[in-house]
Amino acid sequence: MLQFDAVRLHDSSHALRTEIRCFLEEHFPEGHRPNSDFLSGHNPEFSKLLGSKGYIGMNIPVEYGGGGKSFFDRYVVAEELLAAGAPITAHWFSDRQFAPVLMDIGSQEQRQRYLPDICAGTSFSSIGMSEPGSGSDLAAIRTSAKKVDGGWRVNGTKLWTTFAHKNHFMIALVRTSPLSDQRHAGMSQLIVKLSDDSVSVRPIRNMGGDEDFNEVVFNDTFVPDEDVLGEVGNGWNQCTAELGYERSGSERFLSTFRVYIEFLRLFRDKPNDLQAAAIGRIASNIMALRRMSLSVVGMLEAGKSPTVEAALVKELGNNFEKILPEIARLAAPLDVDKTEFIQTYRESILLSPSTTLRGGTREILRGVIARGLGLR
Ligand SMILES: Cc1cc2nc3c(=O)[nH]c(=O)nc-3n(C[C@H](O)[C@H](O)[C@H](O)COP(=O)(O)OP(=O)(O)OC[C@H]3O[C@@H](n4cnc5c(N)ncnc54)[C@H](O)[C@@H]3O)c2cc1C
Repeated sequence: MLQFDAVRLHDSSHALRTEIRCFLEEHFPEGHRPNSDFLSGHNPEFSKLLGSKGYIGMNIPVEYGGGGKSFFDRYVVAEELLAAGAPITAHWFSDRQFAPVLMDIGSQEQRQRYLPDICAGTSFSSIGMSEPGSGSDLAAIRTSAKKVDGGWRVNGTKLWTTFAHKNHFMIALVRTSPLSDQRHAGMSQLIVKLSDDSVSVRPIRNMGGDEDFNEVVFNDTFVPDEDVLGEVGNGWNQCTAELGYERSGSERFLSTFRVYIEFLRLFRDKPNDLQAAAIGRIASNIMALRRMSLSVVGMLEAGKSPTVEAALVKELGNNFEKILPEIARLAAPLDVDKTEFIQTYRESILLSPSTTLRGGTREILRGVIARGLGLR
């Protein structure tokens, strides 16, 4: 049974919101035009600055360099960074996924080795699940790791790996036993250094003309035993448990939020009826999605694994962020042609096909939701 309990943020989270807004106003004053890149760009200096202010790894214990705060605090900061269009791509996957996964299943030694740099905003990682011929059908992966003395030899190709050309590590899902009738068995997760000479990374240009995702080829890459994440053979269960972190956040419905901001800049003072309706329609969708997303944060904070609820947030959120630019465009007069609004609109249209693909397609998510509802 799906249940989204209402969550109220504590006063401390509201205070934190005021604090991060002041910080962002200083760095991105009114009128700032964010980069059109994924999560507004890969900027190691800005990630380092955020790390120095304690805005990365907020929900990681202090002993590992984190903030020792709640998932709610991380949510508030992430939401404000996304809404401001701050360049947060560099540390995003480490902060959202790798760090909490290390807390869930990493060894003590791995936590000590990786978490301080992640929290400092200086260590960046990518997610290595998809391969040529294996996206939705993840169990069909063919990248293999063979046991050798002291570690594993990895061979194979990963595809669409976001920012592998700029990040330090990949959390790679690999086959440690051959594919069998039990398709979900025999997979493991490895932490692979992307700078290794045996790893070749080739950026792939997206429709907007930018390079954000990559093809990554492993050619007999050695990964030491201490970089096996979790249990050998348990990769599938570990990956599916991560999906609560991966699919539920506000980045799943704020990708085109910039269009709304530009729309408001043009029309908020004297909107006509159509524009007022568009403003209300977009705001009400965002508010509903935000409540659902926050509810999932409450589940994560309680130590649950809300895979189905997260799939629902992503499915509804992605569909909404895809139509947001259309709602705004239809309410804007034709002479907005040379404004920031239309430029932002154009960029969002070019990038929007990716939102319903990355992190799982809408058909796959609907299957997960249907199964969660007991319909399949
Ligand atoms: C911008 C972007 C960034 C990405 N970043 C990463 C990353 O960092 N790491 C990573 O590992 N992957 C990444 N991906 C890959 C992404 O996870 C896959 O594209 C996605 O899972 C779909 O896989 P596919 O592209 O192989 O499409 P396919 O699986 O071939 O699907 C093609 C179409 O068929 C449909 N389909 C497939 N199976 C079924 C089914 N059983 N029932 C109904 N319909 C079905 C799909 O919904 C889709 O519409 C990224 C993708 C994009 C677009």
